[in-house]
Amino acid sequence: MSSSLKALFSVCAIAAASAAYADAQMLNLYSARHYSTDEELYNGFTKATGIKINRVDSDDAGIIARLKAEGQSSPADVILLVDAARLYRGEVDGLFQPIRSKPLEDVIPANLRAHPAADGSISWFGLSTRARVIVYNKAKVKPEDVATYESLADPKFKGQLCIRSGSHPYNLSLFGTMVEHLGEQKAEAWIKGMTANLARTPKGGDIDQIKGVASGECTIGVSNSYYLARLMRSAKPEDQAVAAKVGVVFPNQSSWGTHLNIAGGAVARHAKNKDNAIKFLEYLASPVAQNYFANGNNEWPAARNVELDNPALKTMTQGKPFKSETIPISAAGRNQVKVQQMLDRAGFQ
Ligand code: FE
Repeated sequence: MSSSLKALFSVCAIAAASAAYADAQMLNLYSARHYSTDEELYNGFTKATGIKINRVDSDDAGIIARLKAEGQSSPADVILLVDAARLYRGEVDGLFQPIRSKPLEDVIPANLRAHPAADGSISWFGLSTRARVIVYNKAKVKPEDVATYESLADPKFKGQLCIRSGSHPYNLSLFGTMVEHLGEQKAEAWIKGMTANLARTPKGGDIDQIKGVASGECTIGVSNSYYLARLMRSAKPEDQAVAAKVGVVFPNQSSWGTHLNIAGGAVARHAKNKDNAIKFLEYLASPVAQNYFANGNNEWPAARNVELDNPALKTMTQGKPFKSETIPISAAGRNQVKVQQMLDRAGFQ
């Protein structure tokens, strides 16, 4: 390589590196969301503000590991994760910087964001919600028999329950809030009861549980609402056939309500473009962005008073609002270690 070419390369390298530092027109986003519909949303932000987004995609665990490895030199300004317990983990591990934002505090309900610090600053905000629902085989089970999460442990369902790994964040979060609702002793008995009811060693994702219920390998299962909505809206006849065989219950309508998990965002601890990061989170909480952000993955907006027009979700809820739990979702993270120990004792993989 000629020396002038080498010089040119090193200039480019310096330019690329400096993009990781303060730049009024730049935002470095680490995202665990992988929905093509989000792309347009990001473009909308750039159009409205002139701020360009550099995006790094990974899953929740990958992003947390990367932030830890990068430490102070991390270029990340803003982070999007898809589980409450993981957001809580990021907070406890000091990966975020708490912020004050009137627009976010005004619209995102207190139970869907981090517990405020002594000075009122908040580590992370939920931006969309997903319900953890019970699915059942319509030919074999009546919805009233699975009206509650507690019923998943009913001995009459011995060998009939399909659910993904207990250690998956979606289950750890559900079980973590159950510890809050039931108390530790009853929650552990519930986990043991579910373990006895397993139709098979937990495997696959939520869609695989829905398919197991449809095929009759199990009669009841647990899934996030958007996976069922995805099957309902799919153009593939085989997906529609699966969706047609299963019914859905939003559990615990007569008690504390259905468990909601969140996808949410936070400003990175070492953000060089903090103002842009806050602007971005505020943009995502705006009504238009909320609708788009949630709808793209068949979720519900986290912000108050945002109307959503999604046919699959409407069908699923029969057009009516459902009751959801109101305890702070950070309980999901706080109870995670306890829940993992209960799962180990029960032999729930
Ligand atoms: Fe998911």
